[in-house]
Amino acid sequence: MVRKHKKKPASHRKIVLERIQILFEQAQENFSLDPKLSDRYVQLARKLTMKYKVKMPSEYKRQYCKYCYSYLMPNKTCRIRTHKGHLVYYCLKCKKFNRFTYKTGKSTTKKE
Ligand SMILES: [Zn+2]
Repeated sequence: MVRKHKKKPASHRKIVLERIQILFEQAQENFSLDPKLSDRYVQLARKLTMKYKVKMPSEYKRQYCKYCYSYLMPNKTCRIRTHKGHLVYYCLKCKKFNRFTYKTGKSTTKKE
């Protein structure tokens, strides 16, 4: 990859994605202290995606509820089940199911 000294939307996007990453890391770190703060980080991350028109990376999409946008912490704010190759997150806040495709292969530890 060659870097040019020009402002490009692509680099903009990279910065936004980095910020989103930080927000989700913060959300995870602060959850035990203040779950509401984690929800707030999720909302900030969502605002960034809307403002800069970037797609939320799929790894982060499964970290919040798509209905009420609360941060999903397994066994705390959601329950996770696997169903026919899908991950089903049951949000305890709004009582809705969030379904995600389940990546198979590579270092999957089976837990039942
Ligand atoms: Zn929810």
